[in-house]
This record gives sequence, structure tokens and C-alpha cells, in this order.
Amino acid sequence: MRAIVAGNWKMNGTLAETRSLLAALAPEIETAEANGVDVVVIPPFTALETASATLRSAGSRIHLGAQDLHWEPKGAFTGEISVGMLRELGCSFVLVGHSERRAHFGEGGAVLLAKLEAAIRGGLTPILCVGEKLEEREAGRTEGVLDDQLDETLFALAPRDIAGVVVAYEPVWAIGTGRTATPQQAEEAHRHIRHRIAGRFGEEEGARSRILYGGSVTSANAAELLRRPGVDGALVGGASLKAAEFAGIVRLATQGGT
Ligand code: PEP
Repeated sequence: MRAIVAGNWKMNGTLAETRSLLAALAPEIETAEANGVDVVVIPPFTALETASATLRSAGSRIHLGAQDLHWEPKGAFTGEISVGMLRELGCSFVLVGHSERRAHFGEGGAVLLAKLEAAIRGGLTPILCVGEKLEEREAGRTEGVLDDQLDETLFALAPRDIAGVVVAYEPVWAIGTGRTATPQQAEEAHRHIRHRIAGRFGEEEGARSRILYGGSVTSANAAELLRRPGVDGALVGGASLKAAEFAGIVRLATQGGT
């Protein structure tokens, strides 16, 4: 299975910063594709066109992703961006249900299902983010929370639609906090998610689903996480804004975390 290392820039990246970060990154990770790792950068909407042009002129095979999408193809949705618009800018991936969208913009349930369906219909690979809050983990509710989040999104999709959907396990308490899940915690959560996918869509789908870990991943802790069975890559926030850091994580992924 091909690993994925995706960098979510969040609301960071002027056009000048986008050009310089990608120009530095492209040569660093030239061989990742050939070594079985899909590398994805996910800048803000405003930088997608510049990112696309910079990657093209560097001859880079880094994939481009967006941080969000609207579920309708066009219309009276002020401020929103459709799948077609993202495709036009060269995107092939899109985040769905990042915990910051859930927390700050009230996204959940039906909205996320509609976004997933729109992404798939429009030919983008969604990276569906799921994860528990600290109080939910401390109350022993991690698996129940993951189940609920999967039930209303991934598991509500038709079986024919789910091939290719990527899941990112991102414990909310680990995002942007510097506090990473232990490799053991990550492995357990990934095992649970895979088991649930297999239960819903069959063993084959469970085995081929790509499940990424996200939450304060750096080049210092990535090896331990990526080495764990069932951890198929990383969704990286803060560390993806530094070319050397992000390239270091990609390098570890090409070595399977060893
Ligand atoms: C993220 O934004 O998905 C993320 C995991 O952020 P960070 O790596 O900064 O914790």
C-alpha cells in the first residue's frame, strides 16, 4: 500500500511564502513517489494557483490538496468553493471534517457526508478527519466517538463510493499542542478504525484503506509512529510549514518509519 504524507498549511502561506516553501521542498522529495509515498501539500485556497504553477515549473509530482470544499457544484453560496473550482486549480485531494472545521464552524454529520459525496463525485480524493477530544479519551470514549464520526460520514456512503477515501485519525488534543499520541495509542485507534471499515465494507476494503495519523507530527517523532502497523502515513500541520521538517517526515515515510 502506498503511504501518504500530507501537509495542512491551515491559514498560512502568502504567495511569496508558497513559492519559496515549495521551491525548497520540491527537490528534497523528488524520489518519494518512486519510493511508494504520495506527498500532498494543502495550502489555503488563495495560494492554490501559485502552488500549482510552482510545482509544475519545478517538474514536481507533489500532489495538491484543498482544506475544505462546498458540496454543491455552483450557486448562491457566498464565500464557498466547489469541487470543480478545486479541480481547475490542480487539486486532487481535499480535507473533509478537520477538527478545526468541526470546532470553529460547527461542521458535522450531514454536512460532512455531503462534502464527502461531492468530493468523490467530482473526482477528488477526500481525506476524512476523525478524532476524539481529551475529555472523551479520558472518559474512555475514544472508540465510541470514532464510531459515531464514521457512522455519519464514511459508513453512510455507498460501498461503490468508498474506494480511495483516506481516513486521518487526529486526536483533537494532539493537534497543534506539541502533545503527540503515543505510537501505541495511534496503533490502537488505527486498528479500531480498520476493523470497523472491514465490518462495514468487507475485509478487502479494510485491508486496503489508507489511515493516516495526525497530531503534532515532527521529524523527531514520525519514525516511531510510521513504523507502527496500520499507520499508513501522516497528516502534518505545523511541521509542514518548514521545508526541512516536512521533507524529513517524508523521508521517514519512504523508509516505512525505520
Ligand atoms: C493538522 O492540522 O491536521 C495537524 C495535525 O496539525 P499539527 O501537526 O500542527 O498538530
